[in-house]
Amino acid sequence: MEDSLLITRRPHASPTPPHARAALLEDPGFGKIFTDHMVTVRWVEGKGWHDAQVRAREPFQLDPAAAVLHYAQEIFEGLKAYRTRGNDVVLFRPRENARRFVASADRMAMPKLPEDLFVGAIEALVRVDADWIPTGEGSLYLRPFMIATEAFLGVRPAAEYTFCVIACPVGAYFKGGAKPVTVWVSDAYTRAAPGGTGAAKCGGNYAASLVAQAEAIRNGCDQVVFLDAAEHRYVEELGGMNVFFVFDDGTMVTPPLGGTILPGITRDAILTLARDEGLNVQERLYSFDEWQADAASGRLKEAFACGTAAVLAAIGEIRHVGGAFKIGGGQEGPVTTRLRDQLTGIQRCTAPDPHGWVHKIDMEA
Ligand SMILES: *Cc1c(COP(=O)(O)O)cnc(C)c1O
Repeated sequence: MEDSLLITRRPHASPTPPHARAALLEDPGFGKIFTDHMVTVRWVEGKGWHDAQVRAREPFQLDPAAAVLHYAQEIFEGLKAYRTRGNDVVLFRPRENARRFVASADRMAMPKLPEDLFVGAIEALVRVDADWIPTGEGSLYLRPFMIATEAFLGVRPAAEYTFCVIACPVGAYFKGGAKPVTVWVSDAYTRAAPGGTGAAKCGGNYAASLVAQAEAIRNGCDQVVFLDAAEHRYVEELGGMNVFFVFDDGTMVTPPLGGTILPGITRDAILTLARDEGLNVQERLYSFDEWQADAASGRLKEAFACGTAAVLAAIGEIRHVGGAFKIGGGQEGPVTTRLRDQLTGIQRCTAPDPHGWVHKIDMEA
């Protein structure tokens, strides 16, 4: 049964010595340091998923004609493992990532990876590389992904794929505490069109966003905000984070999912936590004109971006071709702080978990 495919263990012959690992963990940054192992699973048409291994991390052997290198059949996920104060190792809603991975695969005409295999592969990697999980504010960032490996230049879905999971220890995303970010509203570029791949977590979306991100940096901003492709009117999301707006009357707004926005798991958790605490939460279209007017009138009190890597980041200033404006005097507001504290409390098991979001890994399995 491929659903419960056994993952063969082939431990690294000479893993990083403890003192060298400790030195790397002192200031890991984000996405620069990798653990000793990886998980790989292959898929071939007619045979399905097979050859699941947790093994030494090493470069792939890839034919130069591999379909991923030409037509970008690639999808990925991102989630974190945390070591709790009680010395457990936990994941946050990994089944949601597994489901989204299936949805992304579907959109990119790639094979569906069984959810149990997705979660099992992550657990296997976390178990073998558990010594790499930072304590304190850090976490182990997990990057599952799938690529088309078939050597073939014709244009059709590939007949061979590799699923892989790698891991990197990461520190606090914002060193020295969360600082409000400045965002650039792109006039020239859009991220996703109706009928396109906006709701799929695929590398191609990121490739297409980099020039807009570069434009944001040139304008002194940290991140780019995309407006809808059809009318250039409605706020959609950042390059890799969803966006929320908080008003003076207890209303909170986020753009609705509908094919052009990535359905963030952090977004979903924030919607639930905000409803729990009685905020009037609305998933509705919100135009850039409204954003400017609400900031000017003072009705808009806070705005923040959210995603797995940064969790919640307050948006302090907005810049665009026509000018600039601030929200909340450029400072982080109380709702943003409270929702971040609630979410990180659940993720790290320092707060109760009323929705059953925390997934404890059995480290002895
Ligand atoms: C991954 C991602 C997000 C955030 O999703 P989370 O599940 O909260 O990490 C938001 N937007 C884009 C474009 C993304 O790729």
